[in-house]
Amino acid sequence: MSPYRHFEGIPVSGGVVIGMVFRLEPFRTIVEPRDIPDDRIEDEVRRFEEAVEESRRQMTEIRSRARDDLDDEHAAIFDSHILMLEDPLFFKEIVDGIRREKKNAEHILSVVTDRVAALFNKIPDQYFSSRSTDMYDVANQVLGNLLKVRQHPLRQITEPVIVVSHDLGPSDTMEMDRTKVIGFVTDIGGPTSHTAIMAKALEIPAVVGVGALFERVKTGDTLIVDGTGGQVLLNPTPQELKKYKDIQIRLQEQELSLSVMCPLPAETLDGYTIELSANIEMPEEVQHVKIHGADGIGLFRTEFVYLNMSAFPDEETQYRVYRQVVEAMAPKSVIFRTLDIGGDKFVTGLNLKELNPFLGLRAIRLGLANPELFKVQLRAILRAGASGNAKIMFPMISCVEEVRTIKKLIEEVKIELKQKGLPFADNMECGIMVEIPSAAITADVLAREVDFFSIGTNDLIQYTLAVDRVNERVAYLYEPYHPAILRLIHRTINEAHRNNIWVGICGEMASDPITAILLLGMGIDELSMGPIAIPEVKRVIRGIRLADAKRLSEEILQLNCATDIKRMVAAYKRQFT
Ligand code: PEP
Ligand code: MG
Repeated sequence: MSPYRHFEGIPVSGGVVIGMVFRLEPFRTIVEPRDIPDDRIEDEVRRFEEAVEESRRQMTEIRSRARDDLDDEHAAIFDSHILMLEDPLFFKEIVDGIRREKKNAEHILSVVTDRVAALFNKIPDQYFSSRSTDMYDVANQVLGNLLKVRQHPLRQITEPVIVVSHDLGPSDTMEMDRTKVIGFVTDIGGPTSHTAIMAKALEIPAVVGVGALFERVKTGDTLIVDGTGGQVLLNPTPQELKKYKDIQIRLQEQELSLSVMCPLPAETLDGYTIELSANIEMPEEVQHVKIHGADGIGLFRTEFVYLNMSAFPDEETQYRVYRQVVEAMAPKSVIFRTLDIGGDKFVTGLNLKELNPFLGLRAIRLGLANPELFKVQLRAILRAGASGNAKIMFPMISCVEEVRTIKKLIEEVKIELKQKGLPFADNMECGIMVEIPSAAITADVLAREVDFFSIGTNDLIQYTLAVDRVNERVAYLYEPYHPAILRLIHRTINEAHRNNIWVGICGEMASDPITAILLLGMGIDELSMGPIAIPEVKRVIRGIRLADAKRLSEEILQLNCATDIKRMVAAYKRQFT
């Protein structure tokens, strides 16, 4: 196999696609050079100056919004952007470039930005590489004003393509129109990055962490992406095309045969039923959730609603989105997880730059640091609860004090809503995500404070094993079957039940059918996963006995290492394939 045509990465969203490459440049606006006649040069310079002025105005507006909604520290991020816009050297270099090269302002801006950013990138220091990201942010802002189009390149695609890029943010994924983007591949990234989760939600076959594909492809190349097996083939031979077309047909047949599972309950052969719910990121996914036969929504990652907004939406906007989902799912329940920003998820305009973002001011910490902003979301969720069956849960809980503070804020919000005479769900179930080891270890304490637990294994694995979930270089250590993980899950389930609350799992572990049996054996009450995974998990659960699942989990909990556990799981798996 040729190393230049065959790539292997981490399969993050299943299915096989064959199609044309769209190479998504890191510099997000594609700018062609255009000649400017001598007598129009000064007009072109003026056009550039006006675009800079407009960008400065927009940045100042964003900065004051950040100051109002957050604090001075976050607003200061935009000070540096404004300073860059005002940097006489940068500014002069572009004006001089337009006059010297007699080319359009957009083109000169992109060339200068690339050059300066490359200089920053050469310096092996994180501070300077993040300066280059800032440069691109600022340049894109000016470009948007020059071009008078504020469109993401992914919105300009007109025919079906496979997007190849060095990296993709979750917000890029949100820009993908599923009828146009049929697959994507990135050089970097790990299995539970939010980009990967988005790909799965959109049911777009995807492979991440392939290494060095981006530099080898051009727009128009043909690509095969096997999002199930992790293979990527550039400009395939006729034999390779035939092989993957056959695989495509087989996968489609499998999907069809699984569709009979959708309306059936997740009931074992000996009559024990658990709930299979769906994880969603966008309200539009409700249709998928229903088609795949979910018992409810076990995790609505609300931060995705905000991803491309420059500021937090107000209470009414949030309320409308949440109510729409609650009404569409009623009488089934919807669990809203409050904002989980930070780590690998960030919102435009709230670009939180931290050296250690996964351990920083993210998720509930951000909410509690900005209680007024957090209360806007609490009010919107409580109000939406009046239209159906809603529950609320909080991400990244590390100690009981956080839960107690949240409960106080909820009480304040209820008083405010009563005063305003707005209807809301007074007795909404409140739960927490158990995704930090300290929460799992103190599950007995936390269980006395809340109505349910939802175990977030994606983060629990990351924090327990000290493995960055989006870093492909340490992906080999990201091990759901590590005994430490299974013991923490087991402990959390036991403590929940001892305190009479229910417990689910909403991390990616829930979507693996054999792992689902193991979790069922440990006593889990609910499994929440990407909607597409539900029929297969259901098929496997309907083919076993609870007693056997219990036996399997007891045996596995006795084992000392992931290698032995995986061997036992593999032996068990053979019965189902
Ligand atoms: C998790 O951590 O397992 C989880 C479900 O939350 P997220 O993936 O959004 O961090
Ligand atoms: Mg998490």
